[in-house]
This record gives sequence, structure tokens and C-alpha cells, in this order.
Amino acid sequence: MGGAISLLAVNFIIAQIFVVAFVVIAAKSRARGPAIWCAAGFAVASLSAVFETVLPFTPVPKLFAVGAFASVLAGFILLRLGLGLFYRVPARMPVLAVFFLGSVILDLLIYDLPRGTLKHAFFYQLPFFIIQAWSASTVLRSARRSRADWILFGLLVLTSAYYLLKIYAAIAAGSGTTAADYLASPFALISQALGAMLIVATGIAILGVMVKEIIDEARASSELDALSGLFNRRGFMDRVAPLLQADGIEGPGTLILADLDRFKLVNDTYGHHAGDGVIRQFSRVLVELMPMRAVAARLGGEEFVVFLPRVGLAEARVLAQGMRAAMASTRVDGLPESVRITASFGVAAIVSGEPMEAAMQRADKALYAAKAGGRNRVECAEPPVLVLPATSRRLGRS
Ligand code: GH3
Ligand code: MG
Ligand code: MG
Repeated sequence: MGGAISLLAVNFIIAQIFVVAFVVIAAKSRARGPAIWCAAGFAVASLSAVFETVLPFTPVPKLFAVGAFASVLAGFILLRLGLGLFYRVPARMPVLAVFFLGSVILDLLIYDLPRGTLKHAFFYQLPFFIIQAWSASTVLRSARRSRADWILFGLLVLTSAYYLLKIYAAIAAGSGTTAADYLASPFALISQALGAMLIVATGIAILGVMVKEIIDEARASSELDALSGLFNRRGFMDRVAPLLQADGIEGPGTLILADLDRFKLVNDTYGHHAGDGVIRQFSRVLVELMPMRAVAARLGGEEFVVFLPRVGLAEARVLAQGMRAAMASTRVDGLPESVRITASFGVAAIVSGEPMEAAMQRADKALYAAKAGGRNRVECAEPPVLVLPATSRRLGRS
């Protein structure tokens, strides 16, 4: 009995650690709801350790045995609710409530059945099997398929299988003839230890998917420009750098650099807020007209860049002309009906192996020429002059 009771104490402490961890996640994450439900799940489930510890010493063991059963089941149901919110596969509350009440009544009904029988073991473990399989299906029905999600799914399947296996194990290994006997049985020790390991692993996996989401969100927001919704300079470089590595026809493409015309005047005349509206509107024009695989960013202020992988200079010039014309004819919210804002564009091809900075400089020169030429224009940079390595020049001459 001592072994099983010490394990109950360990389980209780571990459950409290999870409660704290999920509360911390709830405080740090935007998805507060799921973590709070999971914290509640572990808090409620941990009550079972209290019920089971008191059980051998109380004159009303039935109450405590059913309490232990109900608290574990309620904990799993709360976890199912948390996972449902997290994976956007919501559970219907009335269905869960009926499931919980039905299971508790069933547990009361089978209480006096002889333990160690198939009937008792089956009806006792069935609700646990159902709720864990239900949680596993929640993960599967969501659209998320990261490695962390698969690990959690696997553990939930394993836990539900564990409850099925317990039906057989309860009979084969013996689980005592009364609820109090249960704690003294070898089955109790093995069952508590194995169950605890699975629940701990599942709890860590749930924490894992939630922490991963926090990290993913933080990374995404550090690479995005809040005003335009486009990438910022860092996000742009991270996305484009791997695309520059490709060779041949799969290889680089073209850069379009754009800068709003007389933007300072827009701010000075209509206010900074109206200026922000122009930045948003111009970003929408770029995104609408650029090809699917293109990468657009706001480099800062009113300067933008679009990278067009595998697109030649001529095609990029046509695209830039389309963007220019679209902006020049678009009405901007917050500005007088008759006012139109224009932008100037510099286009430069990037050749394989050329550093991004070099291509950016050539696009910038073209943009400067567009400004000098009267604005609301597109100018293209000359392709880079390729200097062949000395050895190949010698080979070329021979
Ligand atoms: P040009 O046609 O030569 O590009 O002239 P410009 O007035 O557009 O260029 P200039 O560089 O003189 O002014 C850019 C202005 O952009 C100055 C700055 O106040 C404004 N600006 C920079 N960032 C923001 C922003 O986030 N929001 C708003 N509203 N204005 C910004
Ligand atoms: Mg400008
Ligand atoms: Mg500028």
C-alpha cells in the first residue's frame, strides 16, 4: 500500500507543476483559453490522489472511490475542452456534460460488482478510453500537422489504448475485491506508475505544442511589419536568401524597389494617420498584383521591395508598370476624393550568385532615375557586368 500511496503523492505534486506551467503559458500566450482549461484539467484530476489516499481510512469509501473516478474523468474532459479550443475543434458542452454524468452514474452502478471481473473492469475503464480517444481525434481533425502535433496525437492514442489494456490487466493481475483492497494490490502500483508516465508525457506534449505556438508567433511577428502586414527587412531577407541559392532556370529573378512620391507632403498636408492609410493601400496594391510566389516587404518609411523569383527583367517591368498604374488610379481612404498618390519604381534583375546588396543597389539607382525623371515612373537597371574569373578568361582566349 505504501508504494501506491507514495506514487499518489508524486502524481499529485506533478499535477500541480503542470497547473503552474499551464497558468504561465496562459499568461504569456495570446491563446489564453486553451491553457486555462488544461490547468483546470490537471488541478481537478489531481484531486483523485487526495480521494484515493483518504479512501482506505474513511467509513464512506464509496463516496471517495467515486470521487477519485469522477475527478480523473473531469480532468480529462477539461483537457479535451482545452485541446478543442487550441485545435479549433470545439466540443459541445452538453454532450460532454451528459458523458460525464452518465459515466459517474455508471461507476456508482458497478461499485458493488465484484472487482477483478470483466464486467467491472470494462465499465470502469470505458469512459477513460472514450475521452482519451476523443481527444486524439480532436488533434487529428484539426488542420495542424507539425511533429509536435503528431507526438501529442500518438500519446493520446497510447493513453486510450492503455485504458483498454487495463481491462485485461485488472483481471489478469488482480485489482483487489474492494476499492480499499485496490490500493494494496500489485495492479495498483503498476497501473499508477504506468498511468502517471503516460499522463506526464501527454502533459509535456500539450505544453510542447502550446510553447511551439508561442515561439512561432513571436518569430512571425518579428519578421512582419505591423502597419503594412508585409514582411519587414529581416523577414524579407530570411525568405529570399534561400531562393537566391537556386541555379539555372530555377535560379534568381528580379527585384522591384518602390518609393511613394512626395510622401512627406502627404503627411504634412493630410496628417500622419492619412499617410499610414496610403502605406496600407500601396501594400494592398503590391500584394494584389504580384505573382503568388513573389515576396513583398516594407523596408522602412515609404520604401518597398518585391522579389520575383524566376521572373525576367522584361516581365518584371510590365508588372511594375501595372503596380504604378494601379496606385496612380486608386482612391485612398482618408484623402480627398480627387487626390491620387503615385509611386516610383526601380527594377533590377539578380543573376545567380550575385549578392542581394549588389542587386538592391542597382535597383536603387534605377529608382533614383525614376524620381529624377519626374516620378510616377518605372526605370530598369542595366544587367550586372559579369567579370569572369581569370582562369576562364585565359581558357577563353586559347
Ligand atoms: P520623394 O518623392 O523624393 O520620395 O519624396 P518623399 O517626400 O516621399 O521622400 P522623403 O524621404 O523626403 O519623405 C519620406 C517621408 O515618409 C518622411 C517621413 O515622415 C514619412 N514616413 C516614414 N515612415 C512613415 C510611417 O510609418 N508613416 C507615415 N505616415 N509616414 C512615414
Ligand atoms: Mg518617397
Ligand atoms: Mg523614401
